[in-house]
Amino acid sequence: MFILQSQATIERAISKAKAMHPRVHVKTFGEYEVSGSKGNTYTVRCERRCNNLKTVDCTCEAGQRGNPCYHAAVAAAQHSYLAAQVDPLVALRYE
Ligand SMILES: [Zn+2]
Repeated sequence: MFILQSQATIERAISKAKAMHPRVHVKTFGEYEVSGSKGNTYTVRCERRCNNLKTVDCTCEAGQRGNPCYHAAVAAAQHSYLAAQVDPLVALRYE
């Protein structure tokens, strides 16, 4: 799990995501399945904790060590997009 403080936190992961073109499947708002490089799938959870920090949790090895991975980067991008689309109130909670 890592804390998404700014876009800079995941800048390198975003670059990698652009090269890898992972597939994102929305399970529910805040929970995403992202394809890995070996045809596997990782689960990424995006949530806002009560201490008001945006956290991203990925089940891959890097994610478990607290490193921003590209799965987390695409999931976070998807999450922000959905937050803006689905419900303005939900968006406000996550922004
Ligand atoms: Zn990951």
